[in-house]
Amino acid sequence: MSAIRLYEDNAYIRDFEAQITGIASGDLGTEVTLDRTAFYPESGGQPCDHGFIADQAVLQVLERDGEIIHILASNCPLTEGPAKCRLDWERRYDLMQQHCGQHILSAALDKLFGAATVGFHLTEEHTQIDLAIEELTEAMIKEAEALANLAVHSPARIRVHFPDAAALAEMPLRKPPTVADGIRIVEVEDFDWSPCCGTHPGCAAEVGLIKIIRVEKVKKQSRVEFLCGQRAMQDYDAKNRLLLELSAMLSIGTDEIPAQISRLQDTNKQAKKELQEVREKLLRHEADQLLAESADPETDLHIVSRVFPDRPTDELRLLAGFICAYPSAAAILAGTAGDSAHIILARSKDLDIHMGEICKQVAPFVAGRGGGSPQMAQCGGNDLSGLPQALTTATELIVKAKL
Ligand SMILES: [Zn+2]
Repeated sequence: MSAIRLYEDNAYIRDFEAQITGIASGDLGTEVTLDRTAFYPESGGQPCDHGFIADQAVLQVLERDGEIIHILASNCPLTEGPAKCRLDWERRYDLMQQHCGQHILSAALDKLFGAATVGFHLTEEHTQIDLAIEELTEAMIKEAEALANLAVHSPARIRVHFPDAAALAEMPLRKPPTVADGIRIVEVEDFDWSPCCGTHPGCAAEVGLIKIIRVEKVKKQSRVEFLCGQRAMQDYDAKNRLLLELSAMLSIGTDEIPAQISRLQDTNKQAKKELQEVREKLLRHEADQLLAESADPETDLHIVSRVFPDRPTDELRLLAGFICAYPSAAAILAGTAGDSAHIILARSKDLDIHMGEICKQVAPFVAGRGGGSPQMAQCGGNDLSGLPQALTTATELIVKAKL
């Protein structure tokens, strides 16, 4: 026999006594049925309740073939008979606030813009509705939020009706029922009439506050994310803390934060640019010095062959470029990082030597692979012991190619 659903008439029952009428082992855990229950099963977009049956935690509540199944841990030590039951009230009341806020916000959007709610997603973290309207401007969002909060800040009662067909026909429903039997209508006094099986507080004021926090376009619809009641308060608290923290970090008032961040971004951009210019200047100077030290009258070449411990590849590539901006120059620049080595091979435009080919021949000395264009190539490997041989061989191959 199906359990009496206590939450349908009174959403405030949080402690109750019931008879355990069935205990079975299922895929999800121990499945328990009661003769009466205040546990709301997951349905209509509202997550299920949590709580305790005879001090055993209720992990999930679902509806199966018209029966409410309470899922508890596997091998739960329960026996059929009377049991004291208790809801996780904080969770339930939060869901009641979000769910009721949804009715009110959906009604406000419908009244103002004819935007019907076609989807509802309520989880422990998020509340979203999908609306059959392509665009919601900032002004429209503000207007809907204001109207919804006007209803919240009113003495409007929330009533539950189980109308017969005649009474139902008289009700100004926002949307038609999706079931034929046992239709349950939730009325937000002077504001909204909607078919719903969920749990709601007794008056609109208990929703506390409705705050829209994000609107996005999804296909041809608009998705509105919002927070109600205690969730909105917690969000306000977190955001307020964040602003105060930023304000203290920057030593300015909270209203000056965006302008100050913009100034910091500009300063940072300028500093990066200047740093790059100075780096390049230093590298040009270093290139000049290395070239002066590497003149070889016999071959008429300037071959710069060096190992630079812990120097990044992109810096060595830049240095090689500056060296080879001069005629008859070649650069064999190796950098190390821990146990690995990387080698940049480059040459001036006036030399007819294929650095990519040379690179392929020297890469095995450092147990690596590499290659590149005739003018610049790169290889890397993880055998540092072969690095001197790699540099010597590269120099010999360049000299040989020049002859
Ligand atoms: Zn509802």
